[in-house]
Parts: sequence; C-alpha cells; structure tokens
Amino acid sequence: MAKILVAVAWPYASGPRHIGHAVSTFIPADIFARYHRMKGDEVLMVGGSDMHGTPTTVRADEEGVPPEVVANRYHALHARNIEQLGVRYDLYWNTADPNHKRDAQEIFRTLHGKGFIDDRVMTSPYCPTGDHFLPDRYVEGTCPHCGFAGARGDQCENCGHLLDPFELKEPKCRIHGTPPTPRETKHAFFRLSAFQKRLEAYIANKGHWRSPVLSATRAWLAEGLLDRPFTRDIDWGIEVPFPGDEWKAKRIYVWFEAVMGYLTASREFWRQNGQPEKWREWWYDPTSKQYYFIGKDNIVFHTLIWPAILMGYDEKLTLPHDVPATQYMLISGEKMSAGRGRGVWLPDLLERFDPDAIRYYATANMPELKDSSFEWEDFAQRNNSELLAAYGNFVHRALTFAARNFDNRVPEAQFLDAQDKAMVRKLEEQWKKVGQNLEYCHFRDALREAIQLARLGNQYFDAKAPWEFLKKDREACGTALHVSLQVSRALAVIFAPFLPFSSQRLWHALGYDDEVHGQPWQAALDDIPAGQTLRVGKPLFAKIELEEAAESEADRLDVRVAQIVDVRDHPNADKLYVMNVDLGDERRQIVAGMKENYTKGELRDRKIALLANLQTAKLRGIESNGMLLAGEDGPQVGIVMPPEDAPVGVLILGRLGAPRISFEDFRKLSLVVDDGGKVFFLGSGHERVPLKVGDAFLRVDKGIRDGSPVR
Ligand SMILES: [Zn+2]
Ligand SMILES: [Zn+2]
Repeated sequence: MAKILVAVAWPYASGPRHIGHAVSTFIPADIFARYHRMKGDEVLMVGGSDMHGTPTTVRADEEGVPPEVVANRYHALHARNIEQLGVRYDLYWNTADPNHKRDAQEIFRTLHGKGFIDDRVMTSPYCPTGDHFLPDRYVEGTCPHCGFAGARGDQCENCGHLLDPFELKEPKCRIHGTPPTPRETKHAFFRLSAFQKRLEAYIANKGHWRSPVLSATRAWLAEGLLDRPFTRDIDWGIEVPFPGDEWKAKRIYVWFEAVMGYLTASREFWRQNGQPEKWREWWYDPTSKQYYFIGKDNIVFHTLIWPAILMGYDEKLTLPHDVPATQYMLISGEKMSAGRGRGVWLPDLLERFDPDAIRYYATANMPELKDSSFEWEDFAQRNNSELLAAYGNFVHRALTFAARNFDNRVPEAQFLDAQDKAMVRKLEEQWKKVGQNLEYCHFRDALREAIQLARLGNQYFDAKAPWEFLKKDREACGTALHVSLQVSRALAVIFAPFLPFSSQRLWHALGYDDEVHGQPWQAALDDIPAGQTLRVGKPLFAKIELEEAAESEADRLDVRVAQIVDVRDHPNADKLYVMNVDLGDERRQIVAGMKENYTKGELRDRKIALLANLQTAKLRGIESNGMLLAGEDGPQVGIVMPPEDAPVGVLILGRLGAPRISFEDFRKLSLVVDDGGKVFFLGSGHERVPLKVGDAFLRVDKGIRDGSPVR
C-alpha cells in the first residue's frame, strides 16, 4: 500500500470555471484518486478555492462589492460543481480559512528565518490617476512575446509567458485606462536563485514527466533562476507576518500561498479528522508519492518554485513525484478564459448533461501533450457513437436478453468454447492496459482501452448471436450471456474511476447492493455469480442531440452596434417611436418605447446596441425587426451605449447570425447593469459576460445603475 497525495490546483473564486479548467485539474485528479483507492493505496486528495488574488478583486471592483462577497459566492459554486461532477476530494477547502492563513504565515516566517526571504526595494507600476499600485492583473498591455493585446502584468494568457509588468507594450491601468509610472516600493523576495543546483538535481530523474512539463522546466533552469517578489501592494490576501507599518498595505503573493495550500490542506484534513500528525505520512515518508494536477500556465510554479519552497522550509519534505500538467482545451480553436468571459461553463454544462458524458468527453479529448479543442459536434458524436453505441448498448443488450429469457437471473456458464475463452482473455488484457496507462497518468489511452473492451464485448455478443440458439441449445446460450454479463461487470469496475455515476448504476443493475467504488481494482477479473438477480433499468446513457447541445447561452444572442438613421412617431401609440437603423450591411425598422425619455433629435444618428436576432413582431400594427437594448430604473430609461468610435455592424455579444429567438426566450436570459453602469449578460448557469466592443465596456445612458434589467 502506497501513500499517494493527489494535489489539485486551486481554482480562483472569481467566476464560474469552464470545462478547460476541469479537464486539467478536477477530472484527471479524480480518475487518478479513484483508481488508487480501488488499488488499495492510501490516497489523500486535497485542494480548494483560491480566494485571494487580483482576479477576485478585479471582479469585486466591477460589481462594486467587497472581495469576500465574490470569493464566497464562487467558492460555494465551485464546491457544488465539483460534487455534481462526481469529483471526490478528501478535503475541498479554501485559502480564506484562518488555519490556512496561519500555516502559510508560518512557512513564510520559517523561510525568512533561514534567509531564503529578504526585503528589497523594487520598481512597480503605479497609477497616478487613482493613486494606487498596479499588481498583476491591474495592468494590461501588449505581450512582448506574442503581440497579444490583452496581456496582464503577471502573465500573458495567450502564450503563457510569465511577464514583468514593465515588459508590456502600451501598459495601462485596468481601472483608469491611463499609463502607469514606475515607483519604488519595498517587497519580500524569495531567493529562488539559491536553489538552482538543488533543483537541477531534483529534475535529473524526472524522465517520466510529460515532455512539455519537462521542457518548460528545463528552459527555466537553463536561463538561470531569478529571485522573485513574494509580496504585493494590495489589501486583499494574507497579511505579511513582519512587524512595521510599511507591511500593513502589502499581502503575500497569491501564487505562493496557494501552492502552500497543498501542505496546509493536508494538515487541515487530519486535524479535522482527529489525527493531527497523520498528514506527515504523505509529506515525510520517502515512499509516498505526490501528484499535482494543473494546467500548463502553472507548470514552473509546481516544478520549480513549490519544490524550492519545500526545500527551503524543511529539507526532509517529500517533493512532487509527478506534475502531469495538461495543455489547453480550446473552444472551437480559441483559448478559454474564466477572466474574459469566454468558455463552456461548468455550471451550464452540468445543468444540461449527464456528468459522466462530460467526464467521458473531457478525458477522451484531454490535452495531455498538445492543445485540444472542445467542439459541440464532437461532444455529441462521441457520446452517441462511443459511450452510448459501444458501451451502453452492449451492457443493455446483455442485461435485457438475460432478464427476458433467463428469469431475470445471471445464467450459468456450463462449458466455455474457444470464443468464450478468448473473450475472457481479452477482458484481462484490456484491464491490464487500462491500469498500466493510469499508473503513468495516460488518461486518454486508459479510457480508449476501456471503451475498447466494450467494443470487444459488442463484437462477441454479435458473433455469438445468442438469440439464434436460445431454443436449440439453451446451455450454450446461457454461457454466452454469462460471459457477456461477466464482461459488463468488469466494465463497471474498470469504468468506475472515469465514469462514477454510470458505473454505479450498472453495478446495481447487475444485482449488487454495495458500491462499485468499494471494489478492489483486481475485482474486475472476478466472475459474476450464476443465479444473481438482475435489475434491468433504463439504458446507461442518453443520446445527445446536437441542436440541444448547441452553444453557450450568450451565443444564442446576436447583439450588434447599429446606428439610428431616422426617428418618427408611431401613428397608433403615444409612447412609441418607429426608427430606421443601419447595421452596416442592412437597414432595419424597429419600434421602441423611448418617447417619454428621449426626443427625436437626441436619438437621431446615435449608436445603439441592437438585438438583431429577435423574431420580428408587430407593435400596434407596425413591424419591428430587432430590439434596442436599454436599462430601466423606474420611469427612467437609458439606452445601452456603444463607444462613439465603434464601427457600425460590429458584434457586441453572442454570435453573428445566431438563429432568431422569441421574446419569451430572450426574457429568460438576463442583462444587468452594475453600479458603475456597465452592462453584463447573465446566463442561467452564472455565466457572466460583459458587453464590450474591443476593450471598451458598454454603459447605460442617464446614469442608470445597479442591477436594473436591460431590454
Ligand atoms: Zn488606476
Ligand atoms: Zn504572449
């Protein structure tokens, strides 16, 4: 029995997570942990929400609420999504917990005491407009490596380079939009350079790492490690445990304290479970193995910086054994980012699909060595042709045939012929291949071998054609059914780490009352007892219709910049205007209830946000083809304003040419205004997408604020 630490990257509590996050962290970590638990290893799986950091404060600024409101809201959402997805942590924690703070500060103090942290004066970007420093995401500009226009002060999310904020071209304050000036400020520095030799020695025997992980790590070592600031000028996060007022307005840098969370959460789990020293077994026992499940943008933090912190804190600590980082899962070829409101959102996916269908697709398409792409068509197709047609169909055929013709019981296997024996042998082979792949975190290949066993089962069932000799040779027919049910049983065990819900359903249908997850991995090879009563229920998986899968909710809308050409009174209504608007390549007539709030002169030539794919309707006898978006506050109505220089016809939200939607459907989606007047789309799954043209947010006219609906 080995001790296995499964350490899962800490998602920011700054917004919903997307499938790309789950595919690099929750899902592979859970498969790995479940597999090792079944093998009988002692698994400790820990992680939680990262409550600190600028993504949370940026969002809180946008909403005009304190950061803890945002952090608590999304921590609760992440915890719920993780449960819905069937991901079983031993402890899903959060970094705002006082025990984490205390332990992280203790690590910080120890590193300082040993001389691995010192203070230095450095130059940071400072915003003179708002009189504040600009840590990390508060400064944006163009990436010097790839030319991406929205790179942040700490990292370019397009190419993944870690950045010094002064490297950015045309930098500006995210809040005030003005260029920063350099200003001196004191920070605690982690002396990463002191660990160069020891880290080189640590990496020397890591040939089992994924090649992109190894090459990113080696590239950093080859450049020579630089000391790194360990604190930030920000007031949200963990206080710097140094005396003196000069540290009061600074916090420990979020990436440093978040990685410490693996250690602090291990302690916390055993503290909560009444064995406060037991965590040491995963951190001091040289035979214990640690695995870190992360995305590629976090590689060096886990392969160099975190090991260096551990070496500096206590040289007897266990270091990461493997860091199976994934590349990105793109959506239709574009990078997903929680910070920028794009992506296939977990809350939405989990509302609409079987979690096992999501887990299956994510694993089958896992970007282990290179980026992969989430495509709706592929998602529906793989569900239907692999999960449903190969696996679900096979076990359903075996179960229903046995139930109907053998009195709802597992028939006896009387005499195995060569074909039956070959099937049993293949079962053992596939089981072995799945396990070997899982040992090395090759999740895609492991899943492929598992689904291959289902295909072989299907082929066997077709070749045997038990329905043809049910009457002639009932014993041989029973044997074929028995072997098919034995394969089904093996599939329930083998798929248990990947597809926890359907595996349990199948286990139950095969007549077992206990948990498939409590079975030893080896139990896949056990026979199914003859005479056991079957419980045939619904098929294991449902078909996914591509049209239903469709796209994200925002993509159901087509909101564009339009310009009002002329305005006239509606002949049959006092409050309505009839307008002609220009969309660049076409002109539309719309009817809008603006008359009490705007004169014709105020509207003529103005740019507006037009919902272009609303079904046409007649309003008091005049056709309206589209809707002007506006915010309401009691009697006050203010139009949603694109920036002055926005090109007519340019897309603001959703997808050009999205199918027409009814007014009732549009009303189910909501648009809200924050207290700064910015407009957001709010999906039913907490998807929140700002209405923007380029970098400019759209605001509502006439000072309308704070959550008013927009129509
Ligand atoms: Zn500023
Ligand atoms: Zn870049």
